[in-house]
Amino acid sequence: MRLTTPLLLICLALVSAGVRGQPESTAEIEPVAIAIHGGAGTISRESLTAERERTIREALEEAIRAGHAVLEKDGAAVDAVTAAITVLEDAPEFNAGRGAVLTSEGQVEMDASLMTGHDLGAGAVASVQGIRHPILAARAVLEHSPHVMLVGAGAEEFARARDLKFMPGEWFETEFRREQLREIKARESGQATRLESEHRWFSTVGAVALDRAGDIAAGTSTGGMSNKRFGRVGDSPIIGAGTYADNRSCAVSATGHGEYFIRHVVAYSICERMRLAGETLAESADFVINDLLVEAGGDGGVIALDANGNLATPFNTPGMYRATIDRDGNVGVKIYRDE
Ligand code: ASP
Repeated sequence: MRLTTPLLLICLALVSAGVRGQPESTAEIEPVAIAIHGGAGTISRESLTAERERTIREALEEAIRAGHAVLEKDGAAVDAVTAAITVLEDAPEFNAGRGAVLTSEGQVEMDASLMTGHDLGAGAVASVQGIRHPILAARAVLEHSPHVMLVGAGAEEFARARDLKFMPGEWFETEFRREQLREIKARESGQATRLESEHRWFSTVGAVALDRAGDIAAGTSTGGMSNKRFGRVGDSPIIGAGTYADNRSCAVSATGHGEYFIRHVVAYSICERMRLAGETLAESADFVINDLLVEAGGDGGVIALDANGNLATPFNTPGMYRATIDRDGNVGVKIYRDE
């Protein structure tokens, strides 16, 4: 007996190692990836103070890490997208939620949309006021209504019924946006302005993500364009224009001059060129932004990702606030074209 017990234990250990196969540490883990943007536009080193640049980079990093943390814990792509966007909606530097641009009447009117690529689920809100996180209102429409888009008072009532957080008007308005509106109005009335380029910053926010289950999702949130007519709605809440996600092709969130993005159905076009013409994500996104839109005169850019975790972030403006964490975990936070 004494001699056989150790032998038995060795045999058991060998059998159990055989059954387990590879040690867990080297097992194949499905990749995750995420990209976010905080808007494209006439962003140059001269136009940003060192402090503003640092604040923006920090906010981008905080947002992308919030989204990536969700994916790392095996969370869904749609949860990662909303986690990243809610951080950006709260950051006053960006044109979404707090810090959103003002209409010509000096009001904040916000738009947002969200799409899930595994089922083409979509939700959007447009021209809403007071909702702290419009992206969560878009999500509520996606998950709790038979509709794709709700606007204005109807969307706000729906958000209240879903217990979403509301904030007073002053919470959204920043001095930066009031000054921006004054400058645009002065320029329109023929007076000289300090910075012609200032109003060409779009700074809408968006996110795209791939989760471990292989699903992708996209979301976009914005205040629209400075000095817009009240009631104007841009591309950001339009499924297919500012946002699109389809597991068979890609997930896209756009930023730029919305009227052009609507006419060229930008987000959907990028996905469909992949699916129908067999282009890669990089080829398709680059063609739509740097050929089609440039020829049309539409300024802006996109973040895009496919179900393999490939990323593309083309833009035809001098800069785009953006951040990525690729499938190998590499983090990139960028602003200018030459980065
Ligand atoms: N695309 C947005 C709009 O036209 C603006 C932006 O990207 O900042 O409403």
